[in-house]
Amino acid sequence: MLGLMQDWPLTLDRILDHARTWHGAVEVVSRAIEGPILRSTYAQVHDRAKRLSRALLDLGVEPGDRIATLALNGGRHLEVWYGVMGMGAVCHTLNPRMSVDQLCYIINHAGDRIIFCDAIFLPLLAARREQMPSVERIVALNDEDYEPLIAQASPDAVWGGFDENTAAGLCYTSGTTGEPKGVLYSHRSNFLHTIATMSADVMGVSSRDVVLPVVPMFHANAWGLAFSAPAAGAKLVMPGAKLDGASIYELLESEKVTLSAAVPTVFQMLLAYLRETGQRLTTLKRVVIGGAALPPALMRAFEDEQGLLVVHAWGMTETSPLGVVSMPESRVAAMPREAQRVHLEKQGRPPLGIELRLTNEAGEDLPHDGRAVGHLMVRGPFVAASYFRGEGGDILDERGFFDTGDIAAIDPYGFMEITDRAKDVIKSGGEWISSIEIENLVMAHPAVEIAAVIGAAHPKWDERPVVVAKLKPGASADRAEILAFLEGKIPKWWTPDDVVFVDDVPLGPTGKVEKKIIRQRMAGYVLPTV
Ligand code: AMP
Repeated sequence: MLGLMQDWPLTLDRILDHARTWHGAVEVVSRAIEGPILRSTYAQVHDRAKRLSRALLDLGVEPGDRIATLALNGGRHLEVWYGVMGMGAVCHTLNPRMSVDQLCYIINHAGDRIIFCDAIFLPLLAARREQMPSVERIVALNDEDYEPLIAQASPDAVWGGFDENTAAGLCYTSGTTGEPKGVLYSHRSNFLHTIATMSADVMGVSSRDVVLPVVPMFHANAWGLAFSAPAAGAKLVMPGAKLDGASIYELLESEKVTLSAAVPTVFQMLLAYLRETGQRLTTLKRVVIGGAALPPALMRAFEDEQGLLVVHAWGMTETSPLGVVSMPESRVAAMPREAQRVHLEKQGRPPLGIELRLTNEAGEDLPHDGRAVGHLMVRGPFVAASYFRGEGGDILDERGFFDTGDIAAIDPYGFMEITDRAKDVIKSGGEWISSIEIENLVMAHPAVEIAAVIGAAHPKWDERPVVVAKLKPGASADRAEILAFLEGKIPKWWTPDDVVFVDDVPLGPTGKVEKKIIRQRMAGYVLPTV
């Protein structure tokens, strides 16, 4: 067939090749777990990643083999990603916040042959070494173990040359029900995801940016930043272990970061630090916040107090992870600021490559009127078609859409808003109450550090909402005060029946509130009869 365009497989090695050739001197800066700042460049990362591929080939690693990492964000971790993916093996990112039992299960399920880990995680792996029969070698990402491996190998390994649908990465979801399930990303899906995330209405990553991904590399591709930053030629700043407000502030300022991304809790800590010390962010321009609902109060605080553009985003491991991003589209951009906020506080609009549907229980489409609430379904070239090894069976509906398990509404401007996880939905008198909306409001109360809203059994209404709140150290508030704070902000029948104060709100391995555990802890709880 004459006249067709060139066949140029969309493989991820091309991203680092591009960075080496056109942005070779751009820095990759890492704060090592031990403390010091390590500086390298895309040219060096490329050279070292190639050496790693050679070392892996010499160790007998073959295309398709799973090579795991158990590491925080750092330059060496980045080298392992490209070294593994470039030669056609699969980079399996392990989440160190999972329980040891879960990690063991996942390592066995994936059949990982080698694990590259930060030295701090060595004891964790050593304790269960005999329960990981597929693991032939554990390499600590330090001077003693990793550096000799790189130094001895030549940078002559050949990258790419395989089909773009070859598996590149593997990431297990934290498992809402049953055991965690693996999502197997392909070179093509991650390549397309990279291009989508780089676009102006998504993260808009450019060569003039300095990017600090606080979002971990072990969680769903670090939202694509470990691909999009080198693809754009943006300087990359890797934060290592210290994610507290002071440490992040120090790194943002010293490395002149312009763009960062993290879950809301990280930015809560940063905001608290900035308020306490009266410091200002002098180079940071925009932050992407997602992974859990962004409380509007947090968004407003960063905008008003620091002049930042705060971008809300939603996604999941199964969507690579980007699903929607809350950037103002033209009609919204033309509105006064307060009217804009109504839309921008929501999770956002889909980029090219993501199709969204809202369906009712019968699978029928619901209108995008901002009121109809239903199941959020998603389809696209970077959405999972099945789980690794077929776990969970067929996960697509007859139209090829994946059920996200999220409950949402979509407004006439195309802004999608998550109101709940399907399993967390509170059904009162046959109607849904949004736990996320109430949580966001409660968390705007100055005394509240973190809050969750769960459904408690009720003889007449089936379920009624109850707030479970942890107060800030030294702060005080009572039930009546919290409920009064909600008055007028939510429909009257949504008003929680109770507020329970706790010392600890449990967070899961990806930093999300574990409502399952809260419900277990509240097992004997009985609603007050008012
Ligand atoms: P994970 O696969 O661990 O990243 O979890 C994905 C889930 O996190 C989604 O299905 C949502 O329930 C939740 N999530 C992610 N981002 C947001 C957000 N911006 N607002 C509310 N929930 C979110």
